[in-house]
Amino acid sequence: MSPRRQKRQKEAIIRRHIVRTSRLGLALLVLGAALARLVSCATASRPGPSYVIAGAEIADGTGEPLRRGRVRVVGDHIAAVGDFASDPGERVISGDGRVLAPGFIDIHNHSSEGLQTDPAAETQVSQGITTVVLGPDGESPWPIADYLAERRSKPAAVNLLTMVGHATVREKVMGNDFKRPARAEEIEKMAALIEQGMREGAAGLSSGLEYEVGSYSETAELVALSRAAARYGGFYMTHIRDEAGKTLEALAEAIAIGERAPIPVQISHIKLGTVGVWGKTPEAIALIEAARTRGLDITADCYPYEAWHANIEVLVPDKRYDDPASVSRALADVGGASHITITNCRAHRDYEKRDMEEIARSAGITPVQLFIQIVREGGADVIGHSMTPEDVLAFYRQSWVMVGSDGGIGSEHPRGAGTFPKVLGRYVREGHLFALPEAIRKMTSMPAARLRLADRGRIAPGFAADLVLFDPATVIDRSTFAEPQMLSRGVQLVIVNGQPVWDNGRPTGVRPGRVLGATERAARP
Ligand SMILES: [Zn+2]
Repeated sequence: MSPRRQKRQKEAIIRRHIVRTSRLGLALLVLGAALARLVSCATASRPGPSYVIAGAEIADGTGEPLRRGRVRVVGDHIAAVGDFASDPGERVISGDGRVLAPGFIDIHNHSSEGLQTDPAAETQVSQGITTVVLGPDGESPWPIADYLAERRSKPAAVNLLTMVGHATVREKVMGNDFKRPARAEEIEKMAALIEQGMREGAAGLSSGLEYEVGSYSETAELVALSRAAARYGGFYMTHIRDEAGKTLEALAEAIAIGERAPIPVQISHIKLGTVGVWGKTPEAIALIEAARTRGLDITADCYPYEAWHANIEVLVPDKRYDDPASVSRALADVGGASHITITNCRAHRDYEKRDMEEIARSAGITPVQLFIQIVREGGADVIGHSMTPEDVLAFYRQSWVMVGSDGGIGSEHPRGAGTFPKVLGRYVREGHLFALPEAIRKMTSMPAARLRLADRGRIAPGFAADLVLFDPATVIDRSTFAEPQMLSRGVQLVIVNGQPVWDNGRPTGVRPGRVLGATERAARP
């Protein structure tokens, strides 16, 4: 018997008892019924412990064709899928004309701080995201145990996992003296910290080899540290050493780390980010395909934009930020200074949201001089419009490429609020890049498999009730480079662990998100 039915039966017994005991009871019964109606009105907008979503086209996350059916949620999990009758009195949510999919899992998300200040995570749940993976690009919270304990005590609307960051532990061990290869005893200490992070619940090791701290590491260091993560069942997630002229070499290094450790590898935000490598997708794809054919477990994620977002220094791979020749070459590599927009510059707020060519012109200096000045004065964050749509789409077509935002709460790049609806609206509906079930697979079961989340990413009995109901005819991103926080449209209902966090264009205020990962994996065979 369902808890709901039990409760009703109990109420009926109590009512009968009242009627028998006194005439006053009758008055009480009337009052009680009125109260019950009031309560049921108040809870009608929020599904109770058991409810059915009926009439939707189910994309179950596996890539199988859509099929019409019903899904029953009991508590925090999916209890039934298919064609069944509702229990009398069971709440039924109409999914007519819409698609019901597993909640989207964002495998590259920068919300580790955002979740503290904005646990409702409106820009995330409005896209259908129900789980975020934090700590990418080599930088993670530390200690992992403290961070996860805080997230457990102050839950957010979404579930989360975290990686342990390579740069984070490298700085712990090497302090400010990180601009060199690490010594053997330092690598040992880093490995011990990574093992600690894994024991405390991290999902794997992340690196950001294009960034300052990680860039000085040698391949052998990363192999040793990957081994530490692999001992605890983790995977290696990497922002590779170069996303410009040496992308192919950097991909080869990531594959070598996977082979030598050995460890599954996730290439973060795969791209070809400079003019010199545009169009080299066949070569990049062939490298990864060859590794996969050799039996290596290599996958990647990709965001649906032709522009990246990082600090201004990444433009100059040889790190000679003061050298006009190096800087000039770097600006030419991305197609010119007009392709670089400043998003955040502490020393010059007036530069923000403007491109470097325009700023330089109005200041009466060259873009090269402007770059050197900005770095000297403390740097800036920039958006670089330096990928081609053809390359982005070519990567997306690969069966081993999943959707990941590289965004998060408060992102200054539109990917933070628009990634998943953009793929569904522009790539699937408008561009017919691939079929809807395949897009959903790239957002759900694929990242779940990479994260070894055995009970997420699919709509099937026993799986966690992380669900998204959206209108395939209207779902669309609205965030832009000028207004990166604009919420997406077309996602009607988002459910996390059985509870709605987003309903009809509004957050519900409920925060059922959990910390997922090692501890949960161990707890659930
Ligand atoms: Zn990155």
